[in-house]
Amino acid sequence: MRWVAWNKIQTAKRWGGLGLGEIRSLNWALLWKWKWRFNTYPDQLWALVIKAIHDNHRGAQDIPVNNNLAGIWKDILAVDKDLRKTGVTTTEDMGMEGGEDDQKTFSTAKFRSQVEEQIGEKINVGRFKWNNWIPKKITYFAWRLLLGCIPSKGAMVHRGINIGDTTCGLCGYGTETTDHLAASCIMVKAIWWHIHVWLKIPFHGSATSGDDILEDLHKHNGSYQWKKVLEVVMFTTWWRIWKARNELIFERVPFSVIKVVEAIKEDAFVWLNHRSPIGNLDWERWCEFNLRDVFV
Ligand SMILES: [Zn+2]
Repeated sequence: MRWVAWNKIQTAKRWGGLGLGEIRSLNWALLWKWKWRFNTYPDQLWALVIKAIHDNHRGAQDIPVNNNLAGIWKDILAVDKDLRKTGVTTTEDMGMEGGEDDQKTFSTAKFRSQVEEQIGEKINVGRFKWNNWIPKKITYFAWRLLLGCIPSKGAMVHRGINIGDTTCGLCGYGTETTDHLAASCIMVKAIWWHIHVWLKIPFHGSATSGDDILEDLHKHNGSYQWKKVLEVVMFTTWWRIWKARNELIFERVPFSVIKVVEAIKEDAFVWLNHRSPIGNLDWERWCEFNLRDVFV
């Protein structure tokens, strides 16, 4: 089953997507590059050949093309039309990058991002940002959770899968929806309480969704590094809650708030030591979150 819509996977990371990119815009960019090459290097042999074959000597065309001839050249030049049809307005300097006018070169990536600016669709993921201080699969999980795209019992039923009982296994009370697992389950609240106390930030317990949790975090003033570390901990917390939930359901491992909290501290410690520029964290100090001098 597909849990995340394809357009969300294609959308750029800065727009809240997974950033896989669109195959269509890659094709356009590569076609456009041929046009750019033709205009920039008109004396190259292949360009001279094209001119010899396609030029009708009327001089009106910017790039010669004889539509009566078979072959790929007219398909390449049809990119303009194709873009227009899709609603993309092209300009002379589209995809151009770097330096003074005469030193600019064509960038496929730049072209694609300009296409996306025009026809892309932003995805609402609230305060979520891709955080490179944790393994990708953890951020990816947090991203899915914030989009409501994890296979919680409620989400399964919503998608027409009959699984019988939808009660949350952690608290035994209430439907296990994504928001329930992310924030509102009483056991999850207990975990968040421990985490907030550890991180020395106030806990109101009023969050009812993953978005709320991140939103609360960003209400606090603090340095960029401090916030990024807190995000690491938040994402790790969701990951560990999900893991413990699965172990309970599929392997009947009893759920323990304290054990989950310990695992969150351990995971985040290892990841920050290996992936963040902070590095060399001291375990004892980490456990007390006594790191004021570490953050710049
Ligand atoms: Zn629950």
